[in-house]
Amino acid sequence: MSATIEENLAAVKARIAAEAEAFGRDPAAVRLVAVSKTHPAETVAEALNAGHRRFGENRVQEAAAKWPGLRARYPGIELHLIGPLQSNKAREAIALFDAIETLDRPKLAETFVRLRDEGLALPRLLVQINTGCEPQKAGVLPSEADAFLDRCKTEWNLPVAGLMCIPPVEQEPSPHFALLRKIAERHGLPELSMGMSDDYPIAVTLGATLVRVGSAIFGARAYPAAG
Ligand SMILES: *Cc1c(COP(=O)(O)O)cnc(C)c1O
Repeated sequence: MSATIEENLAAVKARIAAEAEAFGRDPAAVRLVAVSKTHPAETVAEALNAGHRRFGENRVQEAAAKWPGLRARYPGIELHLIGPLQSNKAREAIALFDAIETLDRPKLAETFVRLRDEGLALPRLLVQINTGCEPQKAGVLPSEADAFLDRCKTEWNLPVAGLMCIPPVEQEPSPHFALLRKIAERHGLPELSMGMSDDYPIAVTLGATLVRVGSAIFGARAYPAAG
């Protein structure tokens, strides 16, 4: 017998709170991003009906098809982009998302600056760090993170709230979470988006303020999501 989305949400939230408390953290300092990519609006509505309001999607096109309708039905939604963003989709992404967690290169930063100069309000931004230095993965390399974050602040004046990472699948995630935290601390950035279904409890013990959990809430995805 499989649990409902409401039960899964409650279980994940309880685990987050338990891990936070065990490590002397305020449970309210860890927010859950329910990753709804690939799941249709009816499925997402189950989580909304259970009272959850913070979600993550990895593709602009999919979010554009799914979320305006849900926003019209449910107030107070906070939507995060957690997948790579092409510069030519930045304008659409700014209109759709409350947070973009995947700022990862100067060209995208400069696109945000241009859109802000047009008068658009930018969402909260997180910089994605490629902590595993994986060639196929998006994100700023750790060796380039300090310079990039400095430019975000002094050259572009972008509202960077924190950092995000996706550790290599085949590796122990803790060193990656610890590295992300170290870089964030160096730059005085409060937000750490780290931890997915398999490793969010560890991420909470290492300081995550946002955890991105998909399959532990919605079940296995029917088809692999790109990005
Ligand atoms: C899909 C995805 C998640 C959620 O993964 P699960 O293993 O299903 O919890 C988290 N972060 C990013 C960036 C993702 O693309």
